[in-house]
Amino acid sequence: MLRRSFIKKTTAGSLALASFPLIPISQEKEYSIVELMGKTDIKLYGEGINLREEAHNAFVEMKRAAYSAGFDMKIVSSFRDYYRQEAIWERKYIRYTEEDGMKPIDAIDKIIEYSTIPGTSRHHWGTDIDIIDGYPKSSGDVLVPEKFEEGGPFAPFKKWLDANSEKFGFHLVYTDSVIRRGFKYEPWHYSYAPISKPMLTQFRSKNIFRLIQNETFEGSEHFTTGFLKSYIQDNILGVNPDLL
Ligand SMILES: [Zn+2]
Repeated sequence: MLRRSFIKKTTAGSLALASFPLIPISQEKEYSIVELMGKTDIKLYGEGINLREEAHNAFVEMKRAAYSAGFDMKIVSSFRDYYRQEAIWERKYIRYTEEDGMKPIDAIDKIIEYSTIPGTSRHHWGTDIDIIDGYPKSSGDVLVPEKFEEGGPFAPFKKWLDANSEKFGFHLVYTDSVIRRGFKYEPWHYSYAPISKPMLTQFRSKNIFRLIQNETFEGSEHFTTGFLKSYIQDNILGVNPDLL
């Protein structure tokens, strides 16, 4: 890609050649560690949407198209900061270890079926959403895989998303692919790829292992080297290949 544009520019004249090295290698935005870990406020757009501007605009377009197709696309969860994720983590950890009497390691394994270690949630990025259809009446928890499957209240909505979400830049993150490891299948969790892809790339380029190791919250003292390595490989990187 770069080489092709280089050749095109050089044939256009020596002036273009002279300016070529000034074209930045990457014009992508740089994200700071605190931003990647949800530890700083970012500018969010849309009441009840709370996404980065470009993701917000794409979401509004997608919601409009879904509405035309007969769905009331509703966000259950979007941006969530580090401290909110820490509260979710600690509440689960305390419940599993103290009320249910689980061993710390088992409690941690159970938490990471669906919840992330604070600082590693894609919801920290302002690009990811958990969505449902607001029209069907359903009782109890809404983010349950069966509700998105054949016969479930959100099955038609999920079919529409399968056929249309990517046109708006939103990709399913935790797919039901048998070769994917890490978090369980989440038919409700979508990510705005044009921003979240570069964010994941930049997050990977940091020392994620050390970053997590430096954190202290309930249960973090039980993170072993092996656990953290597989968490990074399977959970952080165990996503839809479209997002890598
Ligand atoms: Zn989610």
